Amino acid sequence: MTFRATVLTLYPEMFPGPLDVSLAGRARAAGTWSLEAVQIRDFALDKHRSVDDTPAGGGAGMVMRADVLARAIDYASPEGDSRPRLLMSPRGTPLTQAFVRELAQGPGAVILCGRFEGIDQRLIEARSLQEVSVGDYILSGGEPAAIVLLDAVVRLLPGVMGNETSGMEESFESGLLEHPQYTRPQIFEEREIPDVLTSGNHRRIAEWRLAEAERLTRERRPDLWHVYERARDRK
Ligand code: SAH
Repeated sequence: MTFRATVLTLYPEMFPGPLDVSLAGRARAAGTWSLEAVQIRDFALDKHRSVDDTPAGGGAGMVMRADVLARAIDYASPEGDSRPRLLMSPRGTPLTQAFVRELAQGPGAVILCGRFEGIDQRLIEARSLQEVSVGDYILSGGEPAAIVLLDAVVRLLPGVMGNETSGMEESFESGLLEHPQYTRPQIFEEREIPDVLTSGNHRRIAEWRLAEAERLTRERRPDLWHVYERARDRK
């Protein structure tokens, strides 16, 4: 089954962009996923092909029009399309690995990329858009956010990662940040690889990795640590 991504944007030339190299690019060439970039401007209603207008109530910048966007969405995602409709938005639910995994198990996604000050609220409601944020900062448009989301999803699609188990051991999958990694040379600028990792004792290695993952999470991400601790203590 192919994961179908449709991106609505004023800059379709930004796609597939970085999604056409490495794992994601090979997976697209193999038909594991598909990507269609739809030019929102093609759905404009006037001869100037305008997609935005001044904000009601005044203020700086421009707002994307509900009527134009509705036409674009209805074209890209007609009734009966079971794919979730996402709006990249700094006001959205923060993107998590759990949501990425949920998307990867579904049929695809329709992703609207905002520009300017954002989009008319009535469109978000009328087309049941799910707002998703990639972090607490403001991008100039939703396109880089859509690329981040798709990159995270595509690597989880069946057959994309060479080693299927590697996806399960990473940061966030266990609720913890990942332990430090090392590889040859054994000594780099007088720094050695921790002895335990070269001991061949798999139980001790697993214990060391878990302890390091817990330490890093406690130090760097108290928010994740509290959730993890509560889940662990309930076991
Ligand atoms: N005035 C808006 C920001 C608009 S930025 C506000 O203050 O909330 C223009 C577009 O970039 C947005 O419509 C959205 O699609 C995208 N964007 C900006 N930051 C983002 C983020 N952190 N996550 C996801 N999309 C973002």
